[in-house]
Parts: sequence; structure tokens; C-alpha cells
Amino acid sequence: VREDLPEPVTAAGEVVVRVRLAAICGTDLELLRGYVPFTGVPGHEMVGVVESPGAWQGRRVVAEITVACGACRECLAGRRGHCLERTVLGLRGRHGAFAERAAVPVVNLHAVPDEVPDHTAVLTEPVAAALEVLEQVRVEANHLVAVVGDGRLGQLCARVLAWRGCRLTVLGHHRAKLALLEAAGIATSIAEATPPLGADLVVECTGSPDGLAMARRHVRPRGTLVLKSTFAGTVEVDPAGLVVDEITIVGSRCGPFPAALELLRQGSLDLAPLLTARYSLRDGREAFARAATPEALKVLLEPG
Ligand SMILES: [Zn+2]
Ligand SMILES: [Zn+2]
Repeated sequence: VREDLPEPVTAAGEVVVRVRLAAICGTDLELLRGYVPFTGVPGHEMVGVVESPGAWQGRRVVAEITVACGACRECLAGRRGHCLERTVLGLRGRHGAFAERAAVPVVNLHAVPDEVPDHTAVLTEPVAAALEVLEQVRVEANHLVAVVGDGRLGQLCARVLAWRGCRLTVLGHHRAKLALLEAAGIATSIAEATPPLGADLVVECTGSPDGLAMARRHVRPRGTLVLKSTFAGTVEVDPAGLVVDEITIVGSRCGPFPAALELLRQGSLDLAPLLTARYSLRDGREAFARAATPEALKVLLEPG
């Protein structure tokens, strides 16, 4: 915990956002294990209020996390999320939200509807990331879908897939976390005890190297495997099996903020069961330790 960081300095087109709440993500825990080399203030899931003078001053906002250059090959092709020169809030070349204030480009901001409280708005980024699966893969009511992993990401992806409507099962091994999904009307199964499902779509959300092999087991031939979790390390795969079964593998990262905010505004997702605890910024180390415990879901930091 640092007490001596200078106030954020804004570049052209940026404003200072006073952070009201930030959430610890699995990616933040992986950062500590060296998932990507990063030095700076972590934190990419947040809701805050714009302090800088101008049109946005005083507005409650959430922020997309990728800051694009606007000029490289990917930006010019309309893939700003994949900008070759990008910085990413709290993850790459840019201080994040586990601080009183953060500098954010105005183009990244989205106003939060009044109906959405801070403790829900803070989850806009991971809800958008879950929605990205629906942007990439067609999901229909008769599709057999499995989410592998009952943690933060699995809970969000499962809730979004259930909202879309499909024949969904979540595989996990934490009974209390599976119970939260059952309470939301989502079918679950203990992962180790589940025979191959032959699912049309499997979404890997375990955040662990073993998860990929487990997820692969449940994909039917010509089915699709979506990889959502980011973790440090590598995994062994059996490429021949993927070839023979003609499996489509889809990497999936950030998603659409407007659609996520609209879902939250409608109250379509009950996210309250995902909130494990709230800590002050001063107790940030304790918050990280809590977030790393097996029973924890979303741990929030309140700069206050
Ligand atoms: Zn995250
Ligand atoms: Zn670019």
C-alpha cells in the first residue's frame, strides 16, 4: 500500500475520475503471479465520478479499459481493442483504479444510469466481458451449453448465458458457489463427477491450466470451445483430437459496455450474491488475500 503516489496527470482527451468503488478480478490475482509484466496501480473494474471540468464533470461513469492509439493497423481497421500500441487500465502501461483517482480518456467513459447502484455498476466490465461470448458465438435456446468454472468469471458468464436462454449447465467443484447458481435457476454439476456432456458450446472460465482439458472433454464434435480465463502459465493440448473432432476454439476478452449497462439497468442479472466483501484501500492487501481464498467471489475496494 502506497501513501506517496502523486495525483494522476491527464494527457490530452483525458479526465480525472474519483473512484467510488473498484473490484478485484481474477486477472489482478494473476498479475501478482506474473501473468503479464506490469508495474503501476492495478485495478480495471471500477465506477467513479468525473472530477475534471467539462461536459463530463460530476457524472457517474464506468470506463472501458483499453486505450487505443487510433493510428495503427488494428485501430484503422476498426479493432481498437486490439490496438498494437494500446495501454490498458491497471494492466498495461497505465495506472488503474485501486487508487483515489485515475486518469481516463473521455472516449472510454460511459455514463451509469441512475437505476444502477455503485455495487452493481462496478461489475460493468466483467459483465461486458461475459456478453462478448454472445457477440462471438451464436447461442440459441436449444443449444446445450456448459460453463466450466464456478468462480467470478463462471458466475457472470453463466448468468449472461441463462439470460440469453439455452440448455445450460455449470461445472464446478465449490458447492457453495454452485448453490448460488442453483438459487438463480441454473443447473450445476460437480465437475469431476460429470461424464462428457457433448455440448454445442463450452465456455472455459476456471482460470487454471487444468480447466482447458476439462472443458475440452465436454465439447461435441464440431462444437465450440470459448476460452475466457487469463492465467499465468501454459497448458498441454492434444492438437490431433481438436483436428479430428473439428473443434472451433474462440479466444474471448473484453465486451460491449453499452449492452452491459443496459442489462444492469433492466435488473436482468442478480449480481448481489457475487459480492463477497468490501475493504478500504488502506486494507488493500487484506482484500487481495480475501479475494484469493477459494470461497471468495467479488471483493470490492472503496477508496473513501
Ligand atoms: Zn477483469
Ligand atoms: Zn492503435
